Amino acid sequence: MKKPVLKTEDEIELIRQSSLLVGKTLAELASMIRPGITPLELDKRAEEFIKDHKAYPGFLGHGGFPNSICASVNSAVVHGIPTSKPLDSGDIISVDIGVIKDGYWGDSAYTFAVGEVAEEVLKLLKVTKETLALAIENAVAGKRIGDIGHAVQSHAESNGFGVVRELVGHGLGRDLHEAPEVPNFGKRGSGMLLQENLVIAIEPMINLGTRNVRQLKDGWTIQTADGKPSAHFEHTIVVRKDKAEILSSFKWVEQALGLN
Ligand code: MG
Ligand code: MG
Repeated sequence: MKKPVLKTEDEIELIRQSSLLVGKTLAELASMIRPGITPLELDKRAEEFIKDHKAYPGFLGHGGFPNSICASVNSAVVHGIPTSKPLDSGDIISVDIGVIKDGYWGDSAYTFAVGEVAEEVLKLLKVTKETLALAIENAVAGKRIGDIGHAVQSHAESNGFGVVRELVGHGLGRDLHEAPEVPNFGKRGSGMLLQENLVIAIEPMINLGTRNVRQLKDGWTIQTADGKPSAHFEHTIVVRKDKAEILSSFKWVEQALGLN
């Protein structure tokens, strides 16, 4: 595997600016999400919002992806292509956004409940978000990549949920996907040593049912094999000595949702 490149403080600042813009864009969409709105409307707004902030919606055209956001509804795990099908009460939608500003990427995702959502699905969202927080607690210098994956896996599985293994978190900077890979499963104390100034996106993908997934014929959407819902939360962070620093932010999303 390619060796990860540790970032300078100047680079980290640029990644922070891109990541914060992702957080603001997610909040803009959070204020729009309700039954009846379509993922394509959210995509259009995200594209405008990011361009209005003198940045580029990095997913647009990345590897041929047709839109600015990944919009993964219910049993779609990640990489969903935004559609014109209106959201219904009871749905969940994972929105993943990448921004490039001044040459550096930011990457963050949040899963939203639409209208009245079943209790077990709300629990899936809560636990998935908790796995992200636990993962970030483990992203400190001196620990290892496996500590991050172990934190996600043990919390998700102890709640009876399935952890997707085919897709992983990643280093990022000038490119969206840099070394190292950051799996959401693993053994404590295993894998690459984490060093200060390593910038990674941590992104647990957790299924209500089994961990198995398949890819749809559209060549993009990853779907749960059993058709049950899946959640996805992602932060871009930098490894520091005692506590990771989160470069993206859910602050504005949670304000928009009335959670804080
Ligand atoms: Mg992402
Ligand atoms: Mg990512």
